[in-house]
Amino acid sequence: MSDLPTTCARCDSTGTIRVLTTSPVPGAWTMYACSTCTYSWRSTEAAYVSDPATYPAAFKVDPAAIAEMPVVPTVPPRRA
Ligand SMILES: [Zn+2]
Repeated sequence: MSDLPTTCARCDSTGTIRVLTTSPVPGAWTMYACSTCTYSWRSTEAAYVSDPATYPAAFKVDPAAIAEMPVVPTVPPRRA
């Protein structure tokens, strides 16, 4: 049904989007996921959710910063 989007709206990575799942009713919607930032969205959502040009700038993610993001909650040290 829907063509695979080329660019992730949140992290602007290209070629990293895959089909996550599809609707139980065939053709109703497709859910996509970005393998770089794990952002996911449905094909039926508003343009600002899926369009890199209109995605809210405050929620954009820099792929280079992902590795430095803190893990919350912090993973405790292993028990002896
Ligand atoms: Zn992404």
